[in-house]
Amino acid sequence: MLIEFSIILIMEDKALVIFSGGLDSTTCLYWAIKNFTEVVTLTFNYGQRHCLELEFARIITERLGIKHKILKVDLGQIGGSALTDHSIPVPERKETEIESGGIPITYVPFRNGIFLSLAAAYAEVIGAQHIVGGWNAVDFSGYPDCRMQFIKAMERAINEGTKAGAEGKPFTIHAPLINLRKEEIIALGLSLGADYSYSLSCYNGREIPCGRCDSCKLRAKGWQRLGLMDHLLERLTREGKLKTSP
Ligand code: ZN
Repeated sequence: MLIEFSIILIMEDKALVIFSGGLDSTTCLYWAIKNFTEVVTLTFNYGQRHCLELEFARIITERLGIKHKILKVDLGQIGGSALTDHSIPVPERKETEIESGGIPITYVPFRNGIFLSLAAAYAEVIGAQHIVGGWNAVDFSGYPDCRMQFIKAMERAINEGTKAGAEGKPFTIHAPLINLRKEEIIALGLSLGADYSYSLSCYNGREIPCGRCDSCKLRAKGWQRLGLMDHLLERLTREGKLKTSP
């Protein structure tokens, strides 16, 4: 597969990466390391069912020697999503349903608006003018806060409402994965030397993928389309956590 990616020139600037520790944000982290002179990561502990990702986000950033901040904001108090309300089961949908099924119950109400607002506040404090996130409008077309028009609208709002914006140091929000399919996201990461061994995606919060949730299915399909084995599965096999090679 031949995929071309536009890599912007290295910017003499600090970037804040919104980092869940999943496959998409791990790709974003490597993209930011390639494109900026200083990179800081921000992970949200928002009461997610898959809170194991916090521990793995810490492992990934530690291995890369990248500063990592965890911010606690309990969206479980709001609920309304299978990811934050443990009484709502994580759906197990067919691939065709994932692609055409509308906004799923794994949508967390206005999560990316909330995260971007908090990221902007933190970026302002640490003097980072660039915010990078792994929003993607292709595989999760049902999430309205993953679309480019929303990201651009948030960028305008943040620049209107912050001291940095008012003083002529506007923020730029980068969404390098917004139009990429899962296999293209993985290919981009691999071209940047990404190691996905510790990146978790499962909505059920398991180190060993459940293989049934939307996120596990999309990830598996991405690696399958590239004809490669997921680094995570390679590591789990190596460590004897998977009985047989998947
Ligand atoms: Zn899963």
